Amino acid sequence: FAESARAHLIQPWPVAGEIGAESRGGIVSGNGIYVTDIEGRRQIDGPAGMWCTNVGHGCEPIARTLYEQAMALSYNSPWYTANDPSVRLSERLANHAPGDLNHVFYTTGGSSAVETALRFMQFANNVLGRADKKMIVARQGAYHGSTYLSASLNGRPRDHDWMDSAGELVIKLTCPNPFRRPAGVSVEAFCDMLVDEFRNTIETYGAERIGAFIAEPIMASGGVIVPPEGYLDRMRALCTEHDILFIADEVVTAFGRLGHVFASKEVFGIEPDIITFAKGVTSGYFPLGGAMISSRLLERLRQSNHADAMFAHGLTYSSHPIGCAVAETNLDLLEGGILAQARANAPYFQAQLKSLEDLPLVGEVRGLGLMACVECVADRESNNPLALDLEVGKRIDAHCQQLGLLVRPLIHMCVMSPPLTISRPQIDDLVSILRQGISLTQD
Ligand code: PMP
Repeated sequence: FAESARAHLIQPWPVAGEIGAESRGGIVSGNGIYVTDIEGRRQIDGPAGMWCTNVGHGCEPIARTLYEQAMALSYNSPWYTANDPSVRLSERLANHAPGDLNHVFYTTGGSSAVETALRFMQFANNVLGRADKKMIVARQGAYHGSTYLSASLNGRPRDHDWMDSAGELVIKLTCPNPFRRPAGVSVEAFCDMLVDEFRNTIETYGAERIGAFIAEPIMASGGVIVPPEGYLDRMRALCTEHDILFIADEVVTAFGRLGHVFASKEVFGIEPDIITFAKGVTSGYFPLGGAMISSRLLERLRQSNHADAMFAHGLTYSSHPIGCAVAETNLDLLEGGILAQARANAPYFQAQLKSLEDLPLVGEVRGLGLMACVECVADRESNNPLALDLEVGKRIDAHCQQLGLLVRPLIHMCVMSPPLTISRPQIDDLVSILRQGISLTQD
């Protein structure tokens, strides 16, 4: 394409007046963990696109499914009919999901999955005769989407401070980031503070007004924040005590990123009332997402006085047959060995990245499974990120790109979440390039 063609493309975060300026030189192909750009440079796909190309690029079984399902049935209306792939996939997802989360509503991605969960919460509380129970508790640092309500839950001010957000519905708690806990406070005491904050919030606003608590089990775009031990459990217990829906936003953590199809139960031992998912469900080969909903909750609605009320909510592309067929093949591949590979390689991946902590610019490397974050600091004494050049992530990314690695820069942090098919020698390459990129940035 001609360079001028880019001026017509609006991508996320273009600088006003410079549409297209921020987009990277065109990526033209992908194979396994690699992508190749228009100049023929091959790069490791460090962020797996955006936490999504879990089975890797150029995956033939998925490409075949795309073609075959398009030829068999390319579309049907989810409002009046159901297609076979969506039904089959629902049963498989129900078998993987924890507890009684055995119903699924399909969407077109993560934002619409979160939106669905929240509309469903309001619908349920209306049916149960408590329409005021609709406030949502979210957290600083979180990311839940780019639609109106989901964006209002985001914990980074730049995501919504320029819009008239649905803020009156949303309460934001402290980010459960042990690295940024108050000075002199132990991780255990920090966890107590976070739980107390939620308890006090419930007391202040009244449980009769709070409908849901939404949390990524590991905050992804906020910088791979692994919460303190016991935090999610205790938040879950408070939700149960006050009849508040616990929504686990597993858009990133599901489908193998933490080695399991869903992470809530297997990794953190909790059973949410709703799980939202997207991205890895199709490894990015087709836009699909969804919300797993508890049958206990649905049963409660059935037994209410308004059992005939209709959840009038649906997207043209809900339950898309191609998306659901791709998700089935993707699940075959994950179950067929990729989940096990991700579980086996995760400790190696984390340990190799952790070795970067010897670099003066690196304050902490943290993560779990195949997701990790390198957080840069101005100096190791204060661990203060604020005095840093806040473009440091972008500078590391620029160096790494020259050396053959795509990085996801987040201000002063770099996120690593490669395709789950990455091998140990490829992990070594990734870490070695990242080391060089950071070293060049700090020099
Ligand atoms: N929730 C989480 C945890 C996410 O990371 C994202 C996307 N990065 C979303 C929701 C929104 O998903 P989508 O971009 O597919 O709408």
